[in-house]
Amino acid sequence: MIKIKNYINGKLSDPLDKKYIDVFNPSNGKIYAQCPNSSKIDLDAAIQSSEKSFSAWSGLDQSKRSEFLFKIADMIERNLDEFAKAESVDNGKPYKLSKSLDIPRSVENLRFFASMANSLEAESYHKENVISHIIREPLGSVGTISPWNLPLYLFTWKIAPALVTGNCVIAKPSEITPYTAYLFSKICIEAKLPEGVLNILHGNGKTIGHEIVRHKKIKAISFTGGTETGKKIAREASASLKKINLEMGGKNPVIIFDDCNYEKMIDSLLKSSFLNQGQICLAGSRIYVQKKIYEKFKKDFISRVKNLKIGDPFNSETDQGAIVSIEHLNKILKYVNHAIKEGGQIVVGGDIPTIDGECASGWYFSPTVVEQLSQDSILNQEEIFGPVVTLNQFDQENDAIEMANNTNYGLASIIWTEDLDRAHKLAKVIESGLVWVNCWLERDLRTPFGGIKNSGFGKEGGKYSLDFFTEPKNICTKYYD
Ligand code: NAD
Repeated sequence: MIKIKNYINGKLSDPLDKKYIDVFNPSNGKIYAQCPNSSKIDLDAAIQSSEKSFSAWSGLDQSKRSEFLFKIADMIERNLDEFAKAESVDNGKPYKLSKSLDIPRSVENLRFFASMANSLEAESYHKENVISHIIREPLGSVGTISPWNLPLYLFTWKIAPALVTGNCVIAKPSEITPYTAYLFSKICIEAKLPEGVLNILHGNGKTIGHEIVRHKKIKAISFTGGTETGKKIAREASASLKKINLEMGGKNPVIIFDDCNYEKMIDSLLKSSFLNQGQICLAGSRIYVQKKIYEKFKKDFISRVKNLKIGDPFNSETDQGAIVSIEHLNKILKYVNHAIKEGGQIVVGGDIPTIDGECASGWYFSPTVVEQLSQDSILNQEEIFGPVVTLNQFDQENDAIEMANNTNYGLASIIWTEDLDRAHKLAKVIESGLVWVNCWLERDLRTPFGGIKNSGFGKEGGKYSLDFFTEPKNICTKYYD
């Protein structure tokens, strides 16, 4: 049994009141580790060390802070296998995905912010004989709270810009997937990251997450997770006027026109529907297909979906690993049963598959496609966050826009057409923070990332993240003749 520890003041430590949470391996449903269920006393210790370290860390040359991030990134890269295995054991995702996406992107996050902070442009304004130059200062102790679907990827996406700008960080990974953050803390010790600069507290959202959000000494919260949690955090953080950034759920539309590059579209669509078992906030879960190609598309898509291999995350043939927890599996099943009650037709999937061997007691769900649902049905409105998509038909461009926008969410949209004039016209009226044209999951880390409506508040990425973790100060100087 692995015993995960907190990382406070540069050392690994047990939770002070000795409370732990069981951590499961979703591929076989067995407990394989325990992680701290930290409490306010652990947080107080973390804050104390973070406050003590702030002046030295923020006073360090920018390039020196970046050096630590580069060093940590190199060390993770050297241990790619270990990290990728840990991510798959913890989350249930295919090992080949952890190895090709999650861990390399975590390394990239660290390197990206380390180099970007080194090359920031200065801002200044001249007016007659007055010059105003703007400096950006770190906030102090900041909190980051991340989810289970891309554990190390989203953990590093938040802590890297916070650290490199000179803040000290109290980071809370998801209690469902704490393992790679624990390995990360060991790397920080080896890299000799100064004590207290990063503190990692494990535990439940309702306990330690809540304490981090309400703590008066924490100046900002960067959160990624569900919309309901985000709303709670916004309410709680407003009491102490904290800066907040909320990256939340999605119900993203994919609009497929009959003039699209069909083969490219269908290859990409399998991924945007089912990569990571559909547990990606950016997944395209509502598919709108133009009438002329609807039946052909349905037939081709279903046959491709049927070929997806579900099972052991460590089998190289596996396309679909396990669902992260039994609770989440039950939630997905409940949604699918509800869709049937609402008149939905399951055209493929909809069931819990039988897996043989060591994974027989794991948590799996077949990739599922449902059609014949109204636009107001629960399946077309609520985020399922699993391998379930709906198929819908449209005739005219305007119908597609209306249906795409008929949701409280606004994270991402995907458009497939060879007519770029049309794509760009649509992109302007679609209500989402990000629009992909003829692609999915392409990311330039300099661009703003984040949703609108119930999907987000504030943006991350490039200078947007660096801005969030700093406060601008105007130094205004007058020159006399
Ligand atoms: P969640 O909201 O249950 O938990 C996210 C994190 O918040 C966890 O670390 C959890 O412990 C913590 N938390 C829970 N309650 C809290 C509270 N009251 N106070 C403080 N912290 C609390 O989400 P999840 O189930 O881990 O992740 C799935 C959700 O995340 C989905 O809705 C998905 O769309 C969203 N997500 C969004 C993005 C994005 O960039 N927009 C990316 C990935 C995931």
